[in-house]
Amino acid sequence: MKKTDHKMHPETHMTSLGYNPFWSEGAVKCPIFQTSTFAFKTAAEGKAFFELAYGLREAEAGEKLGLIYSRLNNPDLQILEERLAVWDGADECAVFESGMSAISTVMLEFLSPGDLLLFSNPVYGGTSHFMYHILTKFGINVISFTADDTKEDLIRIVNESGYADKLKVVYAETPGNPTNALIDIEMLREVCDNFATEDNEIPLVIDNTYLGPVFQHPMQHGADMVVYSATKYIGGHSDVIAGAVSGKRHLMARVKELRSFLGNMAGPWTGWLLMRSLETLKIRMEKQVDNAQKIVAFLNNHPKIERVSYLGNLEEGTRQKDIYDRMCLAPGAMISIYIKGGEKEAFKFIDNTVIPKLAVSLGSTESLIQHPATMTHAGVDPEEKVYLNITDNLVRLSVGVENPDDLIWDMKQALESL
Ligand SMILES: *Cc1c(COP(=O)(O)O)cnc(C)c1O
Repeated sequence: MKKTDHKMHPETHMTSLGYNPFWSEGAVKCPIFQTSTFAFKTAAEGKAFFELAYGLREAEAGEKLGLIYSRLNNPDLQILEERLAVWDGADECAVFESGMSAISTVMLEFLSPGDLLLFSNPVYGGTSHFMYHILTKFGINVISFTADDTKEDLIRIVNESGYADKLKVVYAETPGNPTNALIDIEMLREVCDNFATEDNEIPLVIDNTYLGPVFQHPMQHGADMVVYSATKYIGGHSDVIAGAVSGKRHLMARVKELRSFLGNMAGPWTGWLLMRSLETLKIRMEKQVDNAQKIVAFLNNHPKIERVSYLGNLEEGTRQKDIYDRMCLAPGAMISIYIKGGEKEAFKFIDNTVIPKLAVSLGSTESLIQHPATMTHAGVDPEEKVYLNITDNLVRLSVGVENPDDLIWDMKQALESL
């Protein structure tokens, strides 16, 4: 794009930011830089690049890290990262080979043995497993809270844990998977600030996979880093596994350094696929929300349905609605349907649908349907499942870009079979 003072919207940047066609024979699209290593013009240039990469000296004004080796940097990743950071108004972004590698790298960088992690429950099943079974193996203390807890509750929970001075990360997934429960990011900022000291910064990390990066911007509400499973809406076509972290520069420098040594960056082909996906991200998500709202309007008050948990259904005057109004720009395209009955009725409904694929994952162009209690959240402790509303009659629908009338027809005929 030619230089201009006009401030562009994020979706306008998605087709051109960070790439100049004349770097690549005039190719309008950024090519796939399928190379492991990059040539230096001179030995002195190689030395200068490594001095920056290893932090042996400060960058000179306007100096950027040169291309060295694809575990450290690659144009497909760097351009993608520049574009992704725009959505969150973040200083920097780092792309990973999966959402789990993005999440685990952040945790491992900011937590050490003896430290305390406070996190929201429920979270994605893989995240929950990582918190409870991997971090604890390294002597990290973990405690969770739910959407019902207030600021006072959280401060009390941390103080009662006996590790208040060891609190090092606060992590939340909002809306939570699979129930759509919202967590107040602004409240969590206050909790972090309550325990932070001059030499103990407590980063607030938000998993924004469900609504982001289009319909929720956690950094505007006090988050320091935002994590994504880019496998979901960002990738959006169920054809790639990837993850991302966007955030403040000094924190992202640490995340990128650990990524260099764990070697879990995404490859150039993944970077290229995600750049392609980013060009349609906003229109896909807008269409998916539009479809979801139409489907929910049909499902609400259906005689075979107990209730529909959807962000567009929140009641005025409730705490959840207040959080929604402050933080979310749209109700998303994830519908949690509580069928009348139990597992038998839920399975029958799922098996009788024609259009959605019976598969886990979410946020793709095709609709996806699944049964959280026996699939994505099969590993959650039975008592905790009840407490978190992950009941046997819950069906999770991720709405795609199909024609909404066809999807409604499908819901209708599948419900009539019950
Ligand atoms: C899928 C998912 C993850 C994990 O991402 P992967 O790309 O599968 O590693 C993390 N958080 C949420 C909310 C998810 O839906």
